[in-house]
Amino acid sequence: MLMNAQINHGATNGYSSRCYRCNRMDSLQPCNFCEHAICSNCRQHCSTCNNEFCGTCSTIDYSSHIERTFCLSCSSQ
Ligand SMILES: [Zn+2]
Ligand SMILES: [Zn+2]
Ligand SMILES: [Zn+2]
Repeated sequence: MLMNAQINHGATNGYSSRCYRCNRMDSLQPCNFCEHAICSNCRQHCSTCNNEFCGTCSTIDYSSHIERTFCLSCSSQ
């Protein structure tokens, strides 16, 4: 009887070590909303809750003369 060897190749653990937007590996942090890894370049800082978000989970408000960034939950309030 031969034992069937289970070979795990290229195991992915769900958490990428690269920015999911630009693939850089520079000072990654998870987005507070979708938890994707984002680098310092792609990170957006919400003016209301002061958390870090990716570009997908944040919106930029141009309605005042100062550009402000809000996350999705803060912008809907
Ligand atoms: Zn990036
Ligand atoms: Zn996000
Ligand atoms: Zn916020």
